[in-house]
Amino acid sequence: MTDQDGVKLPKSLDPRPAPAKVLVLCLFAVAFFGSIVLLRSPGSQSGWRWERKGDWNAFVEKLVPENEVSLFLEAFPAAAAAAFRAVGVEPPSIPAGELTAFAAWGSYRSVRIDDPLISRSLVGRSSGELRQVALMAAEFELDEPVASCYVSPDGRYFFLDLRGVAAEGLGGLEASVAHGVAHALARARAPESARALAFGAEGAAFRFLDEAAALYLADAAMARARGIGYAELSAARWAPEGSALGGREAEALFSSDSRPPEYFAAAAALARAIAVDKGEAAMGELAARLSSGSYLDLDDLASPIASGVGQLFLRYAGSATAPE
Ligand SMILES: [Zn+2]
Repeated sequence: MTDQDGVKLPKSLDPRPAPAKVLVLCLFAVAFFGSIVLLRSPGSQSGWRWERKGDWNAFVEKLVPENEVSLFLEAFPAAAAAAFRAVGVEPPSIPAGELTAFAAWGSYRSVRIDDPLISRSLVGRSSGELRQVALMAAEFELDEPVASCYVSPDGRYFFLDLRGVAAEGLGGLEASVAHGVAHALARARAPESARALAFGAEGAAFRFLDEAAALYLADAAMARARGIGYAELSAARWAPEGSALGGREAEALFSSDSRPPEYFAAAAALARAIAVDKGEAAMGELAARLSSGSYLDLDDLASPIASGVGQLFLRYAGSATAPE
């Protein structure tokens, strides 16, 4: 470095920073501003990671062990489609509008609508709906007593406890995904005629069929994963002391649900009776139609199997009306 007269200046008087210093300053600035951007981004402030799966928003809690995350992302929602195919029917298309899945680890307490990642994806939902999500997440025992999952009555929110699923052993994940996706699609796509029947005997018939179809797909998926026949697994699992209903914690589990163990056993038995009598494809077809909403009313839904939903219940569940 020289001054204007060409006199060489000592290094300490050189007003320009040394190239190494510039580099260090640049790196520092990049790191500094980069960390601010990262800290302010919804992903880093959130307790969740977000995945787009078809038309589903899938949130996976950051507490979930990495191995379980990979297994879940592989199975969701693909295991539901596989469950339909395995019983010989084409699965209804999985995208069904804005559906949201929360895959948590042990509880749903961190499903918070003020979580930056969650709130961003729920923009545009009504305040009533958001309050509903918050209330569901705050429930101590939200899951159905017979599964590690819960689906909102409108079918738009699917809560899945991956810690509970892991405890179910072989086929538990496939069964839970099939169970939840079947409920979500059936509820979200129910035609007006069925949706309007939410109360009274016909509403009870829809809910009973919804449960029978979801349990059927779940049991078929679990049976396949375990290499045994569906009817054999279902009969053992839903026996009074079977793995789905027995166990030390059964009483506590069922205390949080208005439906007793007999309700679920009867729904599973209805599906099994139809599958044994008419074939698994016939029961699969019923589940697929329910999940795609392609029926006019419940009598139409039942028509390939019986002359109406009352006849279907009478023949395969022993009573023309569904349990409440
Ligand atoms: Zn269910």
